[in-house]
Amino acid sequence: MAVYQVLEVPDQLLRSRAKPVKNINNGVLRLVDNMIETMYEADGVGLAAPQIGVLRRVIVFDIGQGPMELINPEIIHQEGEQVGLEGCLSVPGTHGQVKRAHRVVVQGLNRQGESVSLEGEELTARVLQHEIDHLDGILYTDRAEWVKRNGRK
Ligand code: ZN
Repeated sequence: MAVYQVLEVPDQLLRSRAKPVKNINNGVLRLVDNMIETMYEADGVGLAAPQIGVLRRVIVFDIGQGPMELINPEIIHQEGEQVGLEGCLSVPGTHGQVKRAHRVVVQGLNRQGESVSLEGEELTARVLQHEIDHLDGILYTDRAEWVKRNGRK
């Protein structure tokens, strides 16, 4: 496995739309493994492929139940509302307040190429929405009610 460098704003790759994965081949599996490694190394709870410069629709996350990956994830249902703080490895040293759906259902493929659907509320829903946004070139700062530098009032 290998650790990638996480791209930071204003890198234009972070603003590009990622393409769907057509075949889950060894290259894609290696990408997933390296993204998981990179996420842990950077101490993040989630990572999207464009953050390491790969414009493919792949996200990884760990919200306390071990590493998970979703290939070609799509939000197929969302409801409710939550307001909370977010940060992003690609916008280092900042945090902001973002309104998100309270609950989402996401469909995608796992590393075996099986269709899986995942239901999440609160933090899980927030992480999924944040990471899927990255696949469309959207950063949390675009949706934030406010953004602040860490350690300042
Ligand atoms: Zn992010």
